[in-house]
Amino acid sequence: MTLVSTNRELLERARRIMPGGVSSPVRAYGAVGGEPPFIVSAEGCHVTDADGREFVDLVSSWGALIEIAASVASVEMVRFVSSGTEAVMSALRLARAATGRDAILKFAGSYHGHADPLLSRAGSGLATLGLPDSAGVPAAVARDTITVPYGDLDAAAHVASATRLAAIIVEPIAGNMGCVVPDGAFLTGLRAVADRTSALLVFDEVITGFRVARSGAQGLFGVRPDLSCFGKIIGGGLPVGAYAGSRALMSLVAPLGPVYQAGTLSGNPLAMAAGLATLELLDDVAYATLEDRGARLERELASAAKAAGIVARVQRAGSLLTLFFIDRAVGNEDDAGTSDRGRFARFHAAMLRRGVMLPPSQFECWFLSLAHDDEAIATIVDAARAALKEIG
Ligand code: PMP
Repeated sequence: MTLVSTNRELLERARRIMPGGVSSPVRAYGAVGGEPPFIVSAEGCHVTDADGREFVDLVSSWGALIEIAASVASVEMVRFVSSGTEAVMSALRLARAATGRDAILKFAGSYHGHADPLLSRAGSGLATLGLPDSAGVPAAVARDTITVPYGDLDAAAHVASATRLAAIIVEPIAGNMGCVVPDGAFLTGLRAVADRTSALLVFDEVITGFRVARSGAQGLFGVRPDLSCFGKIIGGGLPVGAYAGSRALMSLVAPLGPVYQAGTLSGNPLAMAAGLATLELLDDVAYATLEDRGARLERELASAAKAAGIVARVQRAGSLLTLFFIDRAVGNEDDAGTSDRGRFARFHAAMLRRGVMLPPSQFECWFLSLAHDDEAIATIVDAARAALKEIG
């Protein structure tokens, strides 16, 4: 084996030993064409691939890296696990145990990890690949998951009245059909529906936790879920997840209670240290800076699209944003599905050629971090202006 390999050589090797050559499907660039770069080094927000090409990175380890500051959410007890998937899967087991019910309500286009019951209408990777469901999920398991459109409070209320739900699970700001910020009334409405029907309200804050605010989306909207799931940022780039809630609920988890859940590497010192270091850095100044840079990028992208005569819409929550090639607001999965994916693929390629690496799907968020300084934002904006003109 030679010590120095090209992107192509690495891709061929990876494809021989890993399905698609990747650890997570959307990374294979199927949605945008071309071949994924193999990142061999990184410095701040800049990454270099095996062919020596440099990019400003907006994938940011899929949101795990925020590189600065935080504090804690309004929870009484927490259990650490090793991924967001595990966090959600365990929270739902707990919800089922607490309520003695089986059914779960989720929203189309939301992704909650790859546990069997949650792989219906599950957002980015699946929407991108055009797979409504995963193969290998038993029909009996899928039957207990009911899906309604994101943002549709009436539909949620109807299902909750007709079915004994263990949990209503929601991304309080959706990040897996691109960035979709709901009307606050949607989340307060879900809280009321859950209370009325004795279902538990579970916020999946794997993306939003410690990103949109130190107190998460629940802090921004002032809605208190029964259970919250975290991941990404709380591991500072290492594999971590957590689920959390009131002492009464969390006391049902083993060894305190009858809900079994375990993990060899749960709470391992390396990941905990990385997470702690990240959260310690996230202070008010950090969030204000992230908001400023996000707002600037939003403004500049909208103006670049306008200058290029391209119909587009930027949706943003703090340092999370998506540029949709669409002529109206995106509020749910159906809306997102009508955006111009071909145009996104051309835009992605044109940005890559100019040294900016966007997430390779129209249905992913761009993740900004504090490492994206003024110069990096300027690089992104200049590239976007030229790329949008080119593809116009
Ligand atoms: N929930 C949400 C909202 C997510 O975005 C993700 C991952 N993108 C998950 C759960 C699953 O987390 P993990 O990939 O760490 O299993």
